[in-house]
Amino acid sequence: MTEADGKDGPPAVLVDPIDMSKLDPKFGAVIKSMPNGDELTACFACSTCTAACPIANVWQYKPHQLIRMIILGMCEEVLSSDEIWLCLTCFQCQERCPQKVRVTDIFFDCKNLAAEEGKIPENIVGLAKTLMEKGQLYEVTADWEREDMDLEPAVPGLSTDEFRAIIKDTRSGKIVGGKE
Ligand code: SF4
Ligand code: SF4
Repeated sequence: MTEADGKDGPPAVLVDPIDMSKLDPKFGAVIKSMPNGDELTACFACSTCTAACPIANVWQYKPHQLIRMIILGMCEEVLSSDEIWLCLTCFQCQERCPQKVRVTDIFFDCKNLAAEEGKIPENIVGLAKTLMEKGQLYEVTADWEREDMDLEPAVPGLSTDEFRAIIKDTRSGKIVGGKE
């Protein structure tokens, strides 16, 4: 998108033309067929979701635009977008949608589809690997630091073995672990 200076108000946002030949008409149908997609096509582009979103102002594609892009079949743009991963999953958009479009959950579905295609941001892959290896996202105290502080090698009473055993057999575990 590009911006043009407006003399009598905020700059007008000029939307780049959509290349119709690159649309994937099946994409919207795929999302609609998923458990969260029932009301997808009920969206009437009111932008309430975007108004409610606490971080939409820094997104290139706003929530209402992403929903419209899904309906139009802009598969490549949506699944390659940073926004689906930047979503805070605060559900503000979904709770306020007058058409009951499950905006947040649809973004989850988009993340799953993107992951299936290997389109996962590096930092997310790093977090997932840490989760698989350590059983938790953040180390309570790093190994070297524990030694320096004369602490036991592991946090007493903290066991992540069962969790790690479960996650390695999940779809996420297989994708991130390179077994799929
Ligand atoms: S609030 Fe709902 S109906 Fe309005 S633009 Fe967002 S998804 Fe569409
Ligand atoms: S769930 Fe995501 S898209 Fe919806 S309001 Fe929160 S940050 Fe924005």
